Amino acid sequence: MYGLRELKPTIKVTEASVECPVLDCMCTVERQRHSFRRDARFRCPHHGIYISPSTFEYERETDNLLWCDGDDRALLQAIKTVKRESRIARDNSEDAVTWNVFRLFERTDTLAGLLSALLCRPISNPRVIYWSYDQQSGGVWEPLSRARQEFGERDQRGSEPDLIIVSDQSLIWIEAKVTALNETRPSNPPYSLPAYEAGGNGWFHHAFRSDPSTITNTAGLYELMRFWLLGSWIAEHACLSFHLVSLVLDRQEPDLVGRVAPYLQESVRRAFLRATWKEIYRYVAAGTELFPEREDLLHYFENKSLGYRAGALQAAFSVDEKLPLRAS
Ligand SMILES: [Zn+2]
Repeated sequence: MYGLRELKPTIKVTEASVECPVLDCMCTVERQRHSFRRDARFRCPHHGIYISPSTFEYERETDNLLWCDGDDRALLQAIKTVKRESRIARDNSEDAVTWNVFRLFERTDTLAGLLSALLCRPISNPRVIYWSYDQQSGGVWEPLSRARQEFGERDQRGSEPDLIIVSDQSLIWIEAKVTALNETRPSNPPYSLPAYEAGGNGWFHHAFRSDPSTITNTAGLYELMRFWLLGSWIAEHACLSFHLVSLVLDRQEPDLVGRVAPYLQESVRRAFLRATWKEIYRYVAAGTELFPEREDLLHYFENKSLGYRAGALQAAFSVDEKLPLRAS
């Protein structure tokens, strides 16, 4: 896997060509535009990567993954049967980052500690549902399927949080952002705001302080609205508290809670929070969990690139100080 230490700080991009981003590589490929393509003319023959001016993609998905033994690969294959889209082989893939970080906590049985630290409350026996795929049933997590139906979503366009975590105390939904931001509006009408408002016997009015159109179109919180609505409804029926976590880069959306909170009916059993990848890095760096792969994960955070902007290499996480979680 290539990162900040293996890639050129800047690459030359012309109208017709792009140079390979790997250090010391002399190869130049044809410049591709618009949607990303994996054609031979965009591939560096020495490094086996497909190149665009802003990112690159590995030959195999596993080239971009830290954890890809037999069990991991089988799980990823199974996830793809329900997951909508996957660009996991690309350097700037949010899904790859999500997998590389959370799969390790799951594999090492240390997720309860991380979640307890992030949520500032005890969490026990967490079970992870990646991109709506339930490892126990081998399909879409059934409560989510029911909620999608209840609120008028078609399965193919249904809400799909990156991670759903079911624990003894709480239902936790995590939407992980690395390149994207939380401001979203419906892009593919028809969509049905009335169905969101009417579903679950009008659950919307227990969950929000505003109407769907204001939240969606004025505030641009379409995705978070759906997660908060469906997640809180499922949690209520399961007698669990609900936490919706927006996991973002430290530098992005510092005012997110202030933007979102006015629209939500929060309570002692229902909360929205913004967490950052840097907090997770600090948690690992602080050595609370001493799994053998700890150094691999720290190196990943420190070395992770996010493609190029105007020819300049972008660092994903600005992680230069190893401080304890929530030390300030
Ligand atoms: Zn190359």
